[in-house]
Amino acid sequence: MWIIFMGPPGAGKGTQCERLTRSLHIPHLSSGDMLRQAVVEQTGAGRLAEPYMARGDLVPDQVMVKLIAERIERRDCASGALFDGFPRNRHQAEALDQALAARGTPLDAVLELDVPDGIVMARLAGRGRSDDRPEIIAQRLESYRRQTRPLLEYYRQRGLLEIIDGTGTPDKVFERILAALAARRRAGPGSEIARG
Ligand code: AMP
Repeated sequence: MWIIFMGPPGAGKGTQCERLTRSLHIPHLSSGDMLRQAVVEQTGAGRLAEPYMARGDLVPDQVMVKLIAERIERRDCASGALFDGFPRNRHQAEALDQALAARGTPLDAVLELDVPDGIVMARLAGRGRSDDRPEIIAQRLESYRRQTRPLLEYYRQRGLLEIIDGTGTPDKVFERILAALAARRRAGPGSEIARG
């Protein structure tokens, strides 16, 4: 399966991605991790990306898209992958569609973990990271919303979006994710029933 996982910082995305990749036997492609690795290895992409990442800006689309396009051609992606942190904008989303269409393996689902702002703020405040101060948290949530809202709409229109209630225990949330994916599978690709 080819799945995109979205959600604001503090929604519990990391935990759920880990469980899902284990359960589906597909690799977890975190764009942030891929870029940090490229920087460590000082590859061409890494050297290009480094200054953008240091400023907290998105790296140029062509750098990111090329990394992902190459990554999904590796053998471990033969039966799919879970994208985390990518795509971040419309151009990246369209480039991913093209890369997957070229392989004949279109996206199966886009999951969004939905967690009320109050809960996200409380969870992030509890982590104690330097970028977890209340005003910074608010800024990160705002930029997630600004960047992501148009993407959610893009996927909703194509019947790919599943909004997952991200409140409750990690076990409960994971159950909801599996249930949503199972319902889509039963309904078949592109089915109206799957659109919820
Ligand atoms: P993250 O770990 O997802 O927060 O990403 C860390 C940094 O990597 C971001 O601040 C961006 O500079 C860069 N980055 C990650 N994913 C992308 C993406 N899809 N497009 C552009 N830049 C990205």
